[in-house]
Amino acid sequence: GDAIKAEMVDELANKHFPMCMRNSHQKLRMDHRLNHFGRLQYGLFLKVLGVSVEESIVFWRKSFDRINDDTFNKMYKYNIRHSYGLEGKRANYPAKNCQQILTSGGDPGCPYRHFSPENLQSALLSTYAPLGLTSNDLPELMKTVKDGHYHVACTRVFEITHGSSGVKKGEGVGGGESVTHPNQYAKRSMDLQK
Ligand code: SF4
Repeated sequence: GDAIKAEMVDELANKHFPMCMRNSHQKLRMDHRLNHFGRLQYGLFLKVLGVSVEESIVFWRKSFDRINDDTFNKMYKYNIRHSYGLEGKRANYPAKNCQQILTSGGDPGCPYRHFSPENLQSALLSTYAPLGLTSNDLPELMKTVKDGHYHVACTRVFEITHGSSGVKKGEGVGGGESVTHPNQYAKRSMDLQK
């Protein structure tokens, strides 16, 4: 696909990312830092999305704008290159899937599972109102979450926020499939816009 530049990530996040990655992106923008698991989870997601290692280094360097180059190079650059398989044992690390994120410690985790009901509702509205989600959608979503069907709630949010692209209830991320991976969510969203 088209190369994704570091400066495109803000807009892509707003339009195409699932809640978990939106949350990491917002945290990064607000705090100018992200904890270890957040960097790993979000970094691998961006890699699989199609951000090159060079653009990834630009993205994280600009995001961590309160540290100097020396600190960045020492503390973060190696890890970014490592996640692209360019350092250490040069493994091709996959991005975390929903199952792994749902059963992680929850920091950052999956908002559908790890946020309190109050925080989840206000986060859903503030995140997805621009894409068409309204407070009328919340009771159904919160019931699904309460029953422990987190990926079903995420799938429903995908359908609601892609209604303007013609996605209907029950179609999920294509062919009735539900969300199993944040990259599957984002890729389908980006494909729908093509
Ligand atoms: Fe992310 Fe999966 Fe949770 Fe959706 S269900 S927010 S894609 S971890």
